[in-house]
Amino acid sequence: MTTQVSQRPQLQHLTDQLNELKTRGTHFRLRVLDDVQAPVCTYDGKKVINLASNNYLGLTAHPKLREAAIEATKKYGVGSGAVRTIAGTMKIHMELEEKIARFKNVEACVVFQSGFTANAGTVSSILGKEDFIISDELNHASIIDGARLSRAKIKVFRHKDMAHAEELLKEVAGEPGRKLLITDGVFSMDGDIGPVDKLCDLADKYGAIMMVDDAHASGVLGRNGRGSVDHFGCHGRVDVQVGTLSKAIGSLGGYVCGSRDLIDFLYHRARPFLFSTSHPPSVTATCMAAFDLLESEPERIDRLWENTRYFKGELGKMGFDIGGVTTPASETPITPIIIGDGRMTMDFSKALFDAGVMATGIAFPTVPEGKARIRTIMTSEHTREQLDQALETLDRVSRKLGIRG
Ligand SMILES: *Cc1c(COP(=O)(O)O)cnc(C)c1O
Repeated sequence: MTTQVSQRPQLQHLTDQLNELKTRGTHFRLRVLDDVQAPVCTYDGKKVINLASNNYLGLTAHPKLREAAIEATKKYGVGSGAVRTIAGTMKIHMELEEKIARFKNVEACVVFQSGFTANAGTVSSILGKEDFIISDELNHASIIDGARLSRAKIKVFRHKDMAHAEELLKEVAGEPGRKLLITDGVFSMDGDIGPVDKLCDLADKYGAIMMVDDAHASGVLGRNGRGSVDHFGCHGRVDVQVGTLSKAIGSLGGYVCGSRDLIDFLYHRARPFLFSTSHPPSVTATCMAAFDLLESEPERIDRLWENTRYFKGELGKMGFDIGGVTTPASETPITPIIIGDGRMTMDFSKALFDAGVMATGIAFPTVPEGKARIRTIMTSEHTREQLDQALETLDRVSRKLGIRG
């Protein structure tokens, strides 16, 4: 029997919407990685220079992390068997959390299955419908979803506009509800840094809870990759720090750092913690090894920033719009090349791929209409030769498509 069950009319609206994406030129297929996530690897059978991964420090394939995962699997098996609150808290889970708390210089830490669930689970549980969330307009989707789930009233300030943020805080200052001021540490589509220090001043002035999502800052900003709070010297001023284990740390997961009571509260109320199974031992052991590496191989972070400065500088010299005019200026290893038109962006990305460079096209609704872009991300492991080859390809393909003169 090889009959395939075809779609029934009940889902026709999905097909209609997909057809609309195809008409607009922004429909995509998933690119499939055939080997290891690395600066040069094979997608869909084609060898390319990879400018698309969040593997900032090259840890996804680090021998020490592989070894840690294998050892933990041999010792403890492949699964935790339950959610954390029932029977799925393993000793190794507690050890990782203690390690992260020490690293971040906070009282306590809790690890979630992903950065997404860390944000959504935290924002939705620490506030209720009488409260207010004051949020940067470019904050990550997981913050937005958490805010909606909390049923708190959401006030959105223009990107990094401190006067606007203050105006919103003033507006609700007389209201009885709690206020949460929230920003990304590094904005994932533009690569600019959130003004954590200035937001801390506002949070102090208006008695707001201060929260930072450091997904792209973990392992990238601050001493040994301690994140944006360390970068700005704001220790003790941020009530809730979220980080990810899925990007620079090289594996999977998210964490929340803060006071002992914040963490204890999340144990009791954060729904992804309560209702979704904890990490397998291999993931947890991998993350432990990664935090050791942040301390023992800090030169990876230095190399990441060296590559970033070089690549960003060259892109600028070539005359690409790398932000700063109509969009924020990147300050981190994420460098967007702003194209504007969605279809043109997707065509550029595809032509780059055919020419041996993997750089993702990102269009509406992930970024605003008219701000479509190619997003490039540096890692510590790219060699100068690879970067030069990628730059040469970007130059050649963009001219061919008439994106630059
Ligand atoms: C990637 C990302 C997340 C989600 O992290 P995952 O661990 O991949 O779920 C959260 N916030 C921001 C800003 C991100 O870029």
